[in-house]
Amino acid sequence: MQSSPVLTLTCSCCTSSTPGRQWHNRDEGFGLCGKCAEWLSGKETPAIMQSTYGIAGYHYPASSNAALSDLEQSPDANALSLHS
Ligand SMILES: [Zn+2]
Repeated sequence: MQSSPVLTLTCSCCTSSTPGRQWHNRDEGFGLCGKCAEWLSGKETPAIMQSTYGIAGYHYPASSNAALSDLEQSPDANALSLHS
């Protein structure tokens, strides 16, 4: 699986800007913010969350406290900065 870049997406639930990765089931440029992810994950099953929004912590922030900052320090990101 190729890793995708972290983008600034529009939350499809509350329309705020949120870091995330494009999920094929979402319209382009749309994702899910941490606040809505937390709210929705209390209502939906993990399987529905994944098929609709992608993988928590990868395609969208897992909670309001977890932006994708950890993922930006992934080996891919480090590899890119080493080339600069
Ligand atoms: Zn939201």
